[in-house]
Amino acid sequence: MDNTLPSYKSIFDIEYEQWSKLLADQPDYRIKQVWEGLYRGFTLPSELTSLPKSLRERLPEILPQALKVISELKSDNMTTIKWLLELQGSNQIETVLMRYKRRDTVCVSTQAGCAMGCGFCATGQAGFFRQLTSGEIVEQVFIASRRLRALGANQRVSNVVFMGMGEPLANFAPLIRAIEVMNQEFAIGARSFTVSTVGIVPGIRRLAAVPIQVNLAVSLHAANDVLRSSLLPINKTYPISALMGAIYEYKNATNRRVSFEWAMMDGVNDSDKDAKELAELALAAGAHINLIPLNSTPGWPTTGSSLARVNEFAYLLEGLGCNVTVRNTRGAEIAAACGQLANRNHSVGKARRLSTNVTAFSDLAPSE
Ligand code: SF4
Repeated sequence: MDNTLPSYKSIFDIEYEQWSKLLADQPDYRIKQVWEGLYRGFTLPSELTSLPKSLRERLPEILPQALKVISELKSDNMTTIKWLLELQGSNQIETVLMRYKRRDTVCVSTQAGCAMGCGFCATGQAGFFRQLTSGEIVEQVFIASRRLRALGANQRVSNVVFMGMGEPLANFAPLIRAIEVMNQEFAIGARSFTVSTVGIVPGIRRLAAVPIQVNLAVSLHAANDVLRSSLLPINKTYPISALMGAIYEYKNATNRRVSFEWAMMDGVNDSDKDAKELAELALAAGAHINLIPLNSTPGWPTTGSSLARVNEFAYLLEGLGCNVTVRNTRGAEIAAACGQLANRNHSVGKARRLSTNVTAFSDLAPSE
């Protein structure tokens, strides 16, 4: 075994060729066994009974520790499972599995914390700690896949949404690498990935140039600069005109539909005027609109719009010619919105512990 290789944050950061170096004293077929165990069987090398016991015992010395499950919370009759996971270096992240009849979606984190500072988001309030590696992103889906297997599910993870902690486009290279790996090795279709951004204009342009065709979801939440800048500080750097320009470029380059996410906040962004402003942008961009009721928690004065108002708002938008879906949120009672659990566990860091959030998770695929 070669112990001179760099240290890895996750076993999924080790590429196939690097396994050959790590297990230099082993025959080639052992590398294949380890690789297929991880990526096809969702089995860690230490659990692979097809490996000699002596090798299994030596492996933990050279391999990175797996992400540690600090807690697992279940809700919605076991159809939503949320994990609080500890990274090497003790930062924590959150991952959610959402089960539906015909698909299993995992919502993953791309950063420990987030630097975007959206006022209504628990992760944003806690601040930024570090970027995740591509392996740490992949490992979250591995954990969810193992759980699915343990539940006796007859299907694998089918969709991945990058809507957990962090701004995916602010961790671009690991994000793309993770998508490539999961596409190739976990056989998750390119169009089953959704990258959600708060509006990082250069990141949207970079994403447009990536050959793999993923879905883009833009967390809009406000359709005029005054309101949007008050909710999403990034809007001061990339105002709506710049964001829309990047969205047009993305659509022209990829021919892919973009969706706008709109967390419905009572008295903040749910007026008839808001609907008209949103409709104008959505129609111009040919964007689908996802309305997601804000999952209210203490610490943020704004509550979510009532369901009646969400439906009225949707009706208004439809009347203006928009394509709209009202999303079912998942896991409100287990603090499923990003950052809530980590903040509650006061473990994201020494940051403020305001337990607010954007919404409970929704996977952005058609509701079932
Ligand atoms: S809403 Fe998203 S981008 Fe904004 S602070 Fe929270 S995690 Fe970051």
